[in-house]
Amino acid sequence: MIVTVLGEIPAAELGRTDCHEHLLIRGGLPIVLEPDFALDSVDAAVAEVGEFLAAGGAALVDCMPLGVGRDARGLVEIARRTGAVVIATTGFHKDRYYAADHWVHTYSVESIVELLVSEFTEGLEVSGYGGPLVQRLEARPGAIKVATSGPVPTPTELRLVEAAGYAQVRTGLPVLTHTDDAGSADVQLSILAGCGVPPSSIVFGHMDRHASVSALAELCAAGASVCLDWMGRHDRRPDEYIADLVASLASRGHLEHVVLGQDLARRTYWHAYGGGPGLANLMESFPALLRKAGLTDDHIDQVLVGNPRRVLDRMETPPA
Ligand SMILES: [Zn+2]
Repeated sequence: MIVTVLGEIPAAELGRTDCHEHLLIRGGLPIVLEPDFALDSVDAAVAEVGEFLAAGGAALVDCMPLGVGRDARGLVEIARRTGAVVIATTGFHKDRYYAADHWVHTYSVESIVELLVSEFTEGLEVSGYGGPLVQRLEARPGAIKVATSGPVPTPTELRLVEAAGYAQVRTGLPVLTHTDDAGSADVQLSILAGCGVPPSSIVFGHMDRHASVSALAELCAAGASVCLDWMGRHDRRPDEYIADLVASLASRGHLEHVVLGQDLARRTYWHAYGGGPGLANLMESFPALLRKAGLTDDHIDQVLVGNPRRVLDRMETPPA
């Protein structure tokens, strides 16, 4: 079963999925550091997700975890108003997005595991444990996010990745990661594996930004998946680059370990805020580029539907 903000659905019911997206970013340090990250309107998200659905998309994973501007209540509202399948994440972003006095820097790994597991068993905490009251929604997270910044994670990040690993083992939820460079995934993999997380439950994000085809292939060969998600930044890199990357991984026999996302976490990337290319880009324009790169319709279904069904499907019997 896949855990969405409106309840669980059988994996077989999941349609075309954007595995790394941001629908709302409200509050937290990220928007202080970069005002363009402020995706602060539910109405704008409803309009933008409407375009995504009209282009053939069905589901999106919101990758804003605890304490960095996640708006769990807003995600539920977007799912209700649009009919899109929305999957929320618990977990953490990079160290730099937490204030120096935030609890992520001082709580024990064991306490943090309990906070993550409780989001799954009792419901998303409205303020991301911003405290002092704990107020939960019925909605639950469908994935655990973790992040490291660079080849040597900070001490806080090391503890947070470990906590996410133990929370995966308790909940069976997939782990979606943020990587900052080619070496990040290896560090994350070794910590998560040390906690008992099976590689099949790990999706390394952003690797198309910095890793070679052979580095990506190695992660796939280890049984993990990669999310190619630097789509839609047409001012910096054409989407053809990612289409070719998908084709290269397919020719090496790793297509079943590839999922796609866009990570369009800026107002300037959304039609609803007056920018572009908009959330619909992945479903509207990208399949044609995959075809041009030599992939068949079956391959395209695999990366947009089949693989997301598998990686987002919660392990009913967690490894513990
Ligand atoms: Zn992101």
